[in-house]
Amino acid sequence: MESISDLKKEAEQYFCEASARGTPVITFKCPCCSKELRTLQPPKGVIWDTLSTCWHCGAGFFKIATQDEVRAQVPPSLGHAKQ
Ligand SMILES: [Zn+2]
Repeated sequence: MESISDLKKEAEQYFCEASARGTPVITFKCPCCSKELRTLQPPKGVIWDTLSTCWHCGAGFFKIATQDEVRAQVPPSLGHAKQ
């Protein structure tokens, strides 16, 4: 079981390395705490939808990423889930 601070450290390192390799990274806001999160940018015409965890507040949310934007929403079933 990882703590949020471990998760944050790993995420920051991951996206730092991704940027260094030239992998496109896009930023968006957590639907719970409105802090900045990052995700890899999908190729053109591709949609990535996945469950994700905010590394600031630990909230679970559903992330839909396209090349132009990232939409993050909290599904009702996850609204009260805390891990
Ligand atoms: Zn958050």
